[in-house]
Amino acid sequence: MPPGTDLADLAREAAGCTRCPLSERRTQVVFGVGNPEADLMFVGEAPGRDEDLQGEPFVGRSGKLLDRLVAEELGVDRSVCYIANVVKCRPPDNRDPKPDEILSCRPYLAAQLELIRPVVVVTLGNFATRLLLETDLGITKVRGRAYPMGSYQLVPTYHPAAALRSGGVVVAEMRADLIRSKQLLGWDS
Ligand code: URA
Repeated sequence: MPPGTDLADLAREAAGCTRCPLSERRTQVVFGVGNPEADLMFVGEAPGRDEDLQGEPFVGRSGKLLDRLVAEELGVDRSVCYIANVVKCRPPDNRDPKPDEILSCRPYLAAQLELIRPVVVVTLGNFATRLLLETDLGITKVRGRAYPMGSYQLVPTYHPAAALRSGGVVVAEMRADLIRSKQLLGWDS
């Protein structure tokens, strides 16, 4: 990243990105949204249909659940946080992002983390967790604690789509993970 680059510069660069074939079928790049100085950042998997059309992460059903849990457990709305995805373009038919797509897109997430310098990063689901925690383990194995990552604490939790599918216990565990984030942020005092 050239010195002096800010998030807006990076978003402009990403808007014309052709580093992987996902660029051919996207409506637009879903770079990320929120407070560029956020202490709390969420990282999801990849844009879905609604996000591809609106250009903003987590605006569909999963996003509504995320917004609700964040409001209920942290007492803030999404504008206080920053929200991004591992992959910035929608995979066709909502398939999983492929390893080469994740690798191509990785520099954007790395730069977002470097520029925002969050205190806590909540990874939503397996893709974000495996990438940032550099693990092959699944979310059920690694969640339930925080991981010091140098400049930030990583709190892995379920993807809200999993919570929509499974309900009860998964939602309760997501709430517990958000409370853990709140404590790490010092927002509970
Ligand atoms: N799922 C994700 O992982 N990201 C979004 O932006 C929307 C749904």
